[in-house]
Amino acid sequence: MPGGVNSPVRAFKAVGGTPPVIDRGAGAYLWDVDGRQYVDYVGSWGPLILGHAHPAVVEAIQRAAEKGATFGAPTELEAELAELVVQAVPSIEMVRFVSSGTEATMSALRLARGAIGRDRIIKFAGGYHGHADYLLTAAGSGVLTLGQPDSPGVPAASAAGTIVVPYNDLVAVEHAFAGHHREVAAVIVEPVAANMGVVPPEPGFLEGLRRLTRQHGALLIFDEVITGFRLSYGGAQALNGVTPDLTCLGKIVGGGLPVGAYGGSQALMEHMAPVGPVYQAGTLSGNPLAMSAGIVTLKELGKPGFYERLEAISARLAHGLASLGCLNRAGSLMTLFCQPGPVLNYEDAKKSDTARYARFFHHMLERGIYLAPSQFEALFVSAAHTEADVDRTIDTASSFAA
Ligand SMILES: *Cc1c(COP(=O)(O)O)cnc(C)c1O
Repeated sequence: MPGGVNSPVRAFKAVGGTPPVIDRGAGAYLWDVDGRQYVDYVGSWGPLILGHAHPAVVEAIQRAAEKGATFGAPTELEAELAELVVQAVPSIEMVRFVSSGTEATMSALRLARGAIGRDRIIKFAGGYHGHADYLLTAAGSGVLTLGQPDSPGVPAASAAGTIVVPYNDLVAVEHAFAGHHREVAAVIVEPVAANMGVVPPEPGFLEGLRRLTRQHGALLIFDEVITGFRLSYGGAQALNGVTPDLTCLGKIVGGGLPVGAYGGSQALMEHMAPVGPVYQAGTLSGNPLAMSAGIVTLKELGKPGFYERLEAISARLAHGLASLGCLNRAGSLMTLFCQPGPVLNYEDAKKSDTARYARFFHHMLERGIYLAPSQFEALFVSAAHTEADVDRTIDTASSFAA
């Protein structure tokens, strides 16, 4: 395997050294094959909001596996998860499940282009939307960490249809629309950016995107692959009151199994085959094991007080870390940038002292705290983290600063 990993963000290229090989997880903890225990703040990069091996999730997967892993035919489980997603996410009346976040964003953009009949898209520098060709321009964390703003192998023509503008910059979006009159099918945005480190939207930014896309006849796509079911049960859109045309989901919606989803109004979604002409398919889409894990995960998240407790533990951690750098936070997502800040976009994020972050990362890892091996990623708090875990994390981090 190139670099010993199946996804480059897992390697320690940005911080040096060799990643531990993981044997198992339980709750907030990971154990490597040498028996070392870590408090985990990566959470498989977002899905594990309940922590590792949550008993209800494990049981649901076991039950589903006994009935058969895949059929390639409709199941009740798909309908049940679809119902939960439609009830939860304000913009989604109709949904399709796929097997990754990358597929969700690719498919949503194909739908947007097919429905609007235009080819160009606008994305934000440092925004990551999976690894489709035309989305790998200024794509944040993984590529940012590797110092490859554009990947070789992406045809120039693919990337040329993508207009990249700075996050939190409505004037730049306005200029992009003006310079490409009636050519833009959609604006795709992380409603809280979490792949250049965490960068929340400035007040009015998302509202402005809603207004400009309407004005120019383009669709607004929220990539809520990280924020969906994390910032609230209805995602970022339920919190900020801005409703996009299409929403992409992934990570939490699969409860740790490979799932993505995209959805919107019935009128838009019925452009998709077999009802409409826009094609998209998947052998393992709506996989029964993955649907089962998603269903029980969402049911846990729907229990009263879940997000209040997650917020309280996240705020405790953020408060304890805030003096050590520029701490950006949205709910249980946060990044401690090694710089004074403020960090409002990708250019700001890049001013961080990545060598200092690398030293901080290893200081924490040696003391049993597992952070993302890159400055430009989120720290993910789960419901399994205890006050004792968080306090130990703060003490360990403070001993680095000292
Ligand atoms: C992780 C992520 C994706 C891609 O999802 P995969 O399941 O890794 O393909 C897309 N968008 C955002 C915002 C993500 O964080």
